[in-house]
Amino acid sequence: MSVPTLAVFKLASCDGCQLTLLDCEDELLALAGKVRIAHFLEASSEVAPGPYDLALVEGSVTTAADAERVREIRAQSRHLVTMGACATAGGIQALRNFADVEEFTRAVYARPDYIDVLATSTPVSDHVDVDFELRGCPIDRGQLLEVITAYLAGRKPDIPDHSVCFA
Ligand code: SF4
Repeated sequence: MSVPTLAVFKLASCDGCQLTLLDCEDELLALAGKVRIAHFLEASSEVAPGPYDLALVEGSVTTAADAERVREIRAQSRHLVTMGACATAGGIQALRNFADVEEFTRAVYARPDYIDVLATSTPVSDHVDVDFELRGCPIDRGQLLEVITAYLAGRKPDIPDHSVCFA
């Protein structure tokens, strides 16, 4: 029987949610042999191609390349879980959704013509189907471990669905 694969990806984010995963080192070691971490650039330069059993995605979609990338991740992943406020709600980057992004880039960059971004920062679920959203900034360590364990065991995570609170 093949070992399930876990992959971790980053879009526009601060890496804080990935650090939560790194902070689970002892628990991940306990899972050694039961899961193969196939893609996690924060922890290893090894990059194994998909398909993946579980993909964790941090960060929001802020460029056309992000949008394309998240579609590729979705196509390669049996389950896709977004982690953190950036991935589930657009994050602090979404403040620009209420402003003129071109005005911002003109004010900040010497060569704004080099900046190629979307006018908005959006959650991953605006672009692809998401199996579960882990909320928080950063995410909760215990909930992250529950999500990983649940999907690898083939069951739903035992975490309250907060979506009604964030409609
Ligand atoms: Fe960082 Fe918060 Fe975004 Fe996680 S949700 S990547 S901690 S800003």
